[in-house]
Amino acid sequence: MKIGLIGMGVAGISILRELTKQLNEETKRRVEIVIFTDSEQFGTGFPYQPDDESLLINQYTETMTIDPDEPDDFVDWISRNKTDRSMYHTHLPRTWFGEYLSQSMNSWLRELNVLIKYERVEDIKCLPNGTYSIHTNRSEVIVNSIHLTTGHLAYKDPYQLLGETGYIYNPYPAKEKIHLQEGKVSVALVGTGLTALDMLLYIKKEYPFADVTFYSKDGLFSSVRGNETPVKMHYFCQDKVTHLMKEGEGITLSLVKDWFYKEMNEHGINVEWVWANLGKGSLEGMAMDLSYSDVLGEFQSLIRHMRKCYPLIWNALPDNEKDLFIEKYGKQWQRFKAPIPQKTAHYLIKKIHQGDVSTVKGLKDINKTGSQFILETDAGKRYTADYVINCTGQEMDLTRSLPLQDTLLSQLVTREIVTPHPYGGITIDYPSMSIVDGQKQIRHAFKAYGQLVSGVQYGNNNVELISLSAKYGVRSMITDLIKTTD
Ligand SMILES: Cc1cc2nc3c(=O)[nH]c(=O)nc-3n(C[C@H](O)[C@H](O)[C@H](O)COP(=O)(O)OP(=O)(O)OC[C@H]3O[C@@H](n4cnc5c(N)ncnc54)[C@H](O)[C@@H]3O)c2cc1C
Repeated sequence: MKIGLIGMGVAGISILRELTKQLNEETKRRVEIVIFTDSEQFGTGFPYQPDDESLLINQYTETMTIDPDEPDDFVDWISRNKTDRSMYHTHLPRTWFGEYLSQSMNSWLRELNVLIKYERVEDIKCLPNGTYSIHTNRSEVIVNSIHLTTGHLAYKDPYQLLGETGYIYNPYPAKEKIHLQEGKVSVALVGTGLTALDMLLYIKKEYPFADVTFYSKDGLFSSVRGNETPVKMHYFCQDKVTHLMKEGEGITLSLVKDWFYKEMNEHGINVEWVWANLGKGSLEGMAMDLSYSDVLGEFQSLIRHMRKCYPLIWNALPDNEKDLFIEKYGKQWQRFKAPIPQKTAHYLIKKIHQGDVSTVKGLKDINKTGSQFILETDAGKRYTADYVINCTGQEMDLTRSLPLQDTLLSQLVTREIVTPHPYGGITIDYPSMSIVDGQKQIRHAFKAYGQLVSGVQYGNNNVELISLSAKYGVRSMITDLIKTTD
């Protein structure tokens, strides 16, 4: 029996972890796991690959782990390998998490029967006997089961600048991709999310004289991360939500809001006040967040703990209610969900007040004329830049972005082996993580994870949720194998 594992970032490593935990010793020896990966990101994946240490994990150190059964695993690794100072409430370099991931992966690899192929997969074919053949440009391997952990989708290219000199389409690894002329060059960061802030920190460190401007539609940043404390959930626990759903309770937006308010009330949080005053994303909004970091921290901590229920709730909500949620609450929810480290917020506010960094909102178009980029706003104002760095994030809608996507994904979508999901990525059966093909057939031996399935997880794609989905996917694969052998 052979399992194909494609990609070796957080999701691929989580599958290895689950195989070591869920397979018995005899099966571990019998099953061969064939890993397909590129060599540069092997054991780290995209965000945690070798890069500059100014690029930070956006969560507090104590909330990161690759082993959900060992919540202090990363903190302990830091104190063994980096520093014995307390790392509570810090944001550490992403490369440190990458080193930690790599070591964890190596220890799990030693327990399994593995063949590693440093080859990119270009296609997967479904064979009539229920097996799959995985194709690279050098080999073809037939497997009984697949875990597709290829991670991030392609970046958007909203102003069709791909290929223009001075346009940095995918800015990672920053050390490799960001090469500016020394001196007073002008840099346009398109976007105001966490990637744009990564770029600010990196550029100001390496090119202190560069003129940096953030361009976006609404000119808003994220919320600032508050002083999170451990919280215990009463309404949004997985067990409770699953139980209510099993009892046939139809999930509606008003029911979810009701749970949400009850949960917040239980913790003494005035939701109306928080919603009206915090997480606004403007400069004043960020200053307000910093002044109310305790209440904000508790609110964000509760939201973070609700994540495990997102896929359950999101999938159960009728589409018109999903759309209503996105329309009414989506933008601010997103800002609360992906906060900026406090230190970064202080730095950003200071730089903007000093006039060292600017923001422009209402961005409408970008064109290249000669050696300069012209950035135009809705109000008809025109700005110029020597470099444009794309910080607009990944393109989740596969129906309109196939030419940008990886060869493998294009092939799978075109041949209807996977189906685009209306809220992004591909359609899967949750929580078995099995793909649903063009004929709406659930393919139990073919699992997918990460950003590829984030339409099912309401856009969520963090280490914790990926770990959980790996647990479900491997459990479902094993159950299925037992059924087939019986
Ligand atoms: C810049 C950035 C910062 C982030 N910071 C955080 C954070 O602080 N905390 C947090 O919880 N989450 C964070 N995230 C979310 C992040 O998505 C997850 O933490 C996680 O790293 C995703 O892992 P993955 O394995 O799904 O994807 P990836 O890390 O993208 O790994 C997939 C791997 O598969 C390989 N691959 C792709 N296609 C093929 C192919 N055809 N053949 C073979 N191999 C292939 C890729 O090269 C890659 O190495 C961040 C995301 C980004 C983009």
